[in-house]
Amino acid sequence: MSVTCPRIAILGIHLESNAFAPVTTRADFRASCYFEGDAMLVEAAKRAPAMPMEIPGFVGAMNASGPWEPVPILITSVEPGGPADQAFIDEVLERMRALLAVSGTLEGIYVSNHGAMVSTTDTDPDGALYALAREAAGTDRPVVATVDLHANISQRMVESADVIISYRTNPHVDRRERGAEAASVLRRLLAGERFEKTFIRTPIVAPTVTLLTARGAYADMIAEGQRHIGPDLPVVSVVGGFGFADAPEAGISILTYGHGRRPREVAAKLAQFAWAERDRFKVKLTSLEQAIGRALEAGQARERTAVCLADVADNPGGGARGNTTDILERLIAANVQRVLLGNFVDAAAAALCHAAGAGARIHVVLNAGRADAHAREIPVDLEVLALSGGVVVGRRGVNAGRTVHLGPSAAVRIGGVTMLICSRRVQCADPAYFESLGIDVGSYSSLVVKSRGHFRAGFDEWYPDERILEVDAAGLTSPMFERYPWKALPRPVWPLDPNTRWTPPTAE
Ligand SMILES: [Zn+2]
Repeated sequence: MSVTCPRIAILGIHLESNAFAPVTTRADFRASCYFEGDAMLVEAAKRAPAMPMEIPGFVGAMNASGPWEPVPILITSVEPGGPADQAFIDEVLERMRALLAVSGTLEGIYVSNHGAMVSTTDTDPDGALYALAREAAGTDRPVVATVDLHANISQRMVESADVIISYRTNPHVDRRERGAEAASVLRRLLAGERFEKTFIRTPIVAPTVTLLTARGAYADMIAEGQRHIGPDLPVVSVVGGFGFADAPEAGISILTYGHGRRPREVAAKLAQFAWAERDRFKVKLTSLEQAIGRALEAGQARERTAVCLADVADNPGGGARGNTTDILERLIAANVQRVLLGNFVDAAAAALCHAAGAGARIHVVLNAGRADAHAREIPVDLEVLALSGGVVVGRRGVNAGRTVHLGPSAAVRIGGVTMLICSRRVQCADPAYFESLGIDVGSYSSLVVKSRGHFRAGFDEWYPDERILEVDAAGLTSPMFERYPWKALPRPVWPLDPNTRWTPPTAE
């Protein structure tokens, strides 16, 4: 039975949890993105929404594809961080339940979710979110979800949702499109169609830097999955997973939806391919010494945009703090010239720069009073070049067209190093962060980014993949998985455990 003007609830939670990072609190979520009811639609309609871009994508595609009535419930989202405070998750789920209970008849639900959350007490709070959506929809009405490419897919999520659609790009530049795809799949479900699903989780817990989609085994899996898309197989999600969540659900997962044998056949084929190509998920990084040597050389030769050092181990986009010092200390010690570094997250240092004013020369201790094993206190004499309040609209890459809050920020010079200091944990993924402080990225010989991979879509006009070195430094997001005290990760898993054995399923 189809309804002429279906009422569709929209809700979701986004957190990518790094189990080794400090707890993500209610205040963190509230300060980043929290909207209820009509405020969600108001934000989604803005030119640069401060919310997951799947929602504007979904709303726009639903508007364009026929009559419907959106029933906005609640969306909250935060920069990747440690496990969510379970008290906040309980509060959000309770609030969603209450709002759904008074929302009248619904014909379907759209869940906008990251999918790699753990909490202080639960390894699968995302599963609880999906179960809540299913409970509200009943057995007959559709629930469609979108997830990040780094989601850890649980059985509970799969069972609760009619369809789960994951991003297909890393850097994630297809968020709006996946929201729109969720709308088109939902339209088919509203017309009465239902899909068979196949779910296979592989024992490959891929080091983060091996999940790019421009090239590599994972890119090949996504491309192969999409090659089979057709009327009988509308959705193939190849979900990379997020090892740092340290969850039993970690591992590259394959989800297919369609009719007849196609979903099973394609899922089995992709699983067999992943396992056969598993050697390609091993990591090779550039040593710190080599990386600094290359930046030194570029600065001395006054080359322009010669080399980009990716500080992949200190990526706030994976829960790291954005304040480690392995690379910075060596740049200063080696007197490397014409190098640009961002984003160094130190709210106290940013405040001192603001107090001193642009043009001031001051003595500052970076990481003062909050040093740890990866982030040492560094006393520096710096010159304040420029200041800003840190509200930036992304220009290029994953945050293009989205409003990002860096908090009070400063451009500073420490010897040959020009550095962006900001107050909030935001990975360096967009040249607009530098440009908002009057910095011309292209005028430097080298660039250091605290980012695992999203910077590739932001800085590609100067730094194509062949000029990028992924550096082996210390931090909470090092892809060298053997350095972490895992607790909940299923073992053995590849490539962490070389003795991992697995027989991929066949289509039968
Ligand atoms: Zn992701």
